[in-house]
Parts: sequence; C-alpha cells; structure tokens
Amino acid sequence: AELIKSIAHTTDLVDTYVPGHRTCAGCGPALGYRLVAKAAGKNTIFIGPTGCMYVANTSYACGPWAVPWTHAQITNGGAVASGIAEAFRMMIKKGKIQDEYPNIIVMAGDGGCSDIGLQAMSAMFYRGHKVLCVMYDNESYANTGIQVSPSTPYGATTMFTPAGPAIPEAKKHHLKDPMPIFCAGGHPYLKYGATASIGYPIDLMNKVRKGLSQDGPAFVHLHVPCPKGWSFPADRTIEIAKLAVDTGMWNLYEVEDGNWANKKFNIAPKTLKPVDEYLQTQKRFCHLQPEHVATIQGFVNNRAKALGMEVPLPPAN
Ligand code: SF4
Ligand code: MG
Repeated sequence: AELIKSIAHTTDLVDTYVPGHRTCAGCGPALGYRLVAKAAGKNTIFIGPTGCMYVANTSYACGPWAVPWTHAQITNGGAVASGIAEAFRMMIKKGKIQDEYPNIIVMAGDGGCSDIGLQAMSAMFYRGHKVLCVMYDNESYANTGIQVSPSTPYGATTMFTPAGPAIPEAKKHHLKDPMPIFCAGGHPYLKYGATASIGYPIDLMNKVRKGLSQDGPAFVHLHVPCPKGWSFPADRTIEIAKLAVDTGMWNLYEVEDGNWANKKFNIAPKTLKPVDEYLQTQKRFCHLQPEHVATIQGFVNNRAKALGMEVPLPPAN
C-alpha cells in the first residue's frame, strides 16, 4: 500500500467514519476510528464487537459508517471476521463475485480483543485469515460505565477498583500486554504487529496500511485516551496521548516479518519524562501516593528495558 507522508497528503483521502454518532466530546476511540477508516479507504468492511465503538456509534439504529459494518458479540469478533474473510476468499476463488478482496477490519476494544474476546481473536490469528485487528485501547470496559479491564493500568480508579483504606492504590494488578501475547511468535501466520497512538496520526495510518497489505492477519494496538473514563477535560485528548509516549506509559513500535526480536521503534523520545507528569493529567490517578507513583515508574522502566528501547530512564524513586 502507498504510505502517507504528511497531513497534507491525507486531504484527498475519503472519510468513511462520518458525523452522526453519540460518543463523548473528545473521545479518543472515535478519532482513532476516523483515522483507521480514512487510511483503509472505501473497499472496507468493519466488524464491531461490543464496546464503546459499537454502543455509542449505533444509538437509535443509526451508524456513522459510509462502508459496510456489522456488530459481533464481545466474545466473537475474531470468529465473525474469520467467517467474512473466508466467504470472500471462496467466492472470489470460485468466480462467484468479481470483487477485489476487501479490507476486513475488526475494531475491538480492550475487552473485545485481549480479555473476553481473546480466544476468538487468537484463533483468527492462528488460522491465518487475512484480517486486520485494531484493538482500540481505552484501558477499561467503558460502554458499561468504566469497569476495570486487564488493560487498566496499576493505580487507576474504575467503578470496580475504587481507592479506599484497604486498597489505597485502586487497581492492584499491572496491565496485560497483548503485543507479546499475539506477536512474539505464538501465532506463526501473524507477521505484522504494531502499537500506535492517535497522538501520531500519520504513523497510525501507515501502520493500518501496512497491516492491510499483509497476506494474512495483522494486529495494531491503538492507544486512545478516554476523557470520561480517565477523567480529564475533553480538549486534552491529543496532549495526553502524546504525553503517554513521552513518559513511556505508551511505546510506539512495530514488528515486521514476525520478527519480535528485531522490533523497530518508530517514534522514540530521546529521554523519558517522569510518569508523574502523565498521571497528574487524569483524575483516575489523583489518589496515588509517592510509593505508588514509584511502582508505576519502575514498571515503565522495566518494560522499556524488556522491549529493548535505548533511552535514558527517570529514577524509579
Ligand atoms: Fe469515547 Fe470513553 Fe466516551 Fe466511550 S466513554 S464514548 S471511549 S470518551
Ligand atoms: Mg475499553
């Protein structure tokens, strides 16, 4: 696929995620959807397992897609996408339709991809269907009112993880990371995996295009700040997305040819800012004590080292 060089280059691209939905003001996932759709273009089918990008987009039987879209259960986005992919492959092979094979994209939330929806998504990657899975990660089950998910970072308040005298840090567990789960060699047909951020739209759109140009499955893990769930003002979404990268709370890299050991860091800060700068922008972290912030800094530093990022790290305490 042709790669995009600048924002100016995107003005001739068609929007197929259009106005007419009911997501919150400043919704990161909605902007992410728009960019993914724009990068993919018209010959695209979206599968939307339950999540904010299903529920908030489809109120009153309307949808903001100018391309085909279907709902899937939160458990089975991978299975529905697999079926659509095989139907197209066989109909084209048997000459029943003259269409070009479409871009098949399953837009799954963190729940629909790496938690409740994990087995179907893993099976889809394992069998090698030509589908791009975009996991739009807002770090909670947001459409049901911000419940904890495995993507919720340590120390974040959710409906199910309030801070209190017994558990002052709020969420106790560190997050589950889908990139090594999917892309470190466990799914032999999955050759392309990348992390992306709405703070870096060109990088995101090119990763979508690279994913769609694979012969088999591809995975993009997309960081999408959620003003409602994370408690920050709606005009700070992009600033917070970028701050996540600057502090190492989010890392931007890609894995090509299934080569996990040789991953490439696309936008790597020269030095990481302390995580506290990021944590202070969101009320979900406002209860944290210095020892909890140190725990998060330690986690971020260890992850950067484990991934092989060569960047000076802030002290952990
Ligand atoms: Fe978007 Fe978050 Fe609102 Fe859901 S709760 S529509 S993800 S801002
Ligand atoms: Mg979510």
